Amino acid sequence: MSINEASRAYGAQKSSIREIAAYAGARKAQIGAENVFDFSLGNPSIPAPDAVRASIEKSLTLPATQLHGYTPANGLPAAREAVAASLSRRFGEGAASMDDLYLTCGAAASLSITFHAIVNPGDEVIVIAPYFPEYRVWIETSGATCVEVMADAATFQVDAAAVAAAVTERTKAVVINSPNNPVGSVYSRENLSALADVLHEAQDRLGTTIYLVADEPYREITYGAEVPWVPGVYDRTIVCYSYSKSLSLPGERIGWVLVPPTNPEHDDLVLAVAGAGRKLGFVCAPALFQRVLMDCVDEPSDVEAYAENRRALTEGLSKLGYEFIEPEGAFYLWVKALEPDAQAFFERAKALELLPVPSDSFGCPGWVRVGYCVSHDTIVRSMPAWAKLADSYA
Ligand code: PLP
Repeated sequence: MSINEASRAYGAQKSSIREIAAYAGARKAQIGAENVFDFSLGNPSIPAPDAVRASIEKSLTLPATQLHGYTPANGLPAAREAVAASLSRRFGEGAASMDDLYLTCGAAASLSITFHAIVNPGDEVIVIAPYFPEYRVWIETSGATCVEVMADAATFQVDAAAVAAAVTERTKAVVINSPNNPVGSVYSRENLSALADVLHEAQDRLGTTIYLVADEPYREITYGAEVPWVPGVYDRTIVCYSYSKSLSLPGERIGWVLVPPTNPEHDDLVLAVAGAGRKLGFVCAPALFQRVLMDCVDEPSDVEAYAENRRALTEGLSKLGYEFIEPEGAFYLWVKALEPDAQAFFERAKALELLPVPSDSFGCPGWVRVGYCVSHDTIVRSMPAWAKLADSYA
């Protein structure tokens, strides 16, 4: 065949999260939406803040050529300035300047750009399992090998000793995601420091450079936990962010890559990020939503509805005897399957119209991810099905 085989394979091998979501859509059409408990997709269930609509309405008064015109490849200076000022207010004077930021079509583009900016053929990139499945696609297509390291089996924090054992002279980066999809864990400052110590030690011993890629689309979705600013813990950090979850704008595709000024290779990395964006054709993020950032970058995320869902789900499942990791952030509950085979457990759940995502999709056996970015009513009404599922194993 004369087309790219690897790309064809990525196209043919569908994301299991999306397959379950598609099944949920079809099933809802067959038996009624109220009878299907779809916990599959991470699509925010709370509306974007009113300030987003107000900002869009304001932008619509601009002359059309300005409103719809190209922006610079890395984004409008005023949008980058607004983001940088917000980061410096929150994480310390000088945390970011506008020239350190490259605006993107969401965290997906931020991560692809970052891997293309740092990876050379034959490099390895470590991910902490369970992990967001698309990491593997973005890492492999940048030319690196994706190396899975299991999180601590009890806490699902980073297992720093396991990372130390996995680092080789080819390790170019470690990707962390906190608050975490799929577990809902938030990495503590101590945990991040332990990881930083491992990376410093490995760099000194091997004479290499290892980056920490902090994927943070859920930074604002927390239930009281501190989410440490990773560049303050490890200097060779690159931060990937998006407003998909914090402002409930996943379909609008807006986010950024930050090369913090404290990163020792800052100037070269800024150029490499711009070059990777150019290489991939990921230039000029949606202009309307760049303008939204100028007005809404400090809008608080309304996590109250997620907190309510989290409470109802954890209380309900706890009463039924399910084991899970108490989520500190994001909107996912990581529930232990009632048999070792998560796929078989999922099939039994599916027969009861319960649709979580089996953990094998995230590189980890024996659990399911229950996305609670759904209506509160869905959670409450799903409880009899969860009870039947538990009973079927009694
Ligand atoms: N990283 C993680 C951990 C995610 O959960 C997601 C989306 O769900 C992304 C990246 C991609 O986010 P975006 O929609 O901003 O591309």
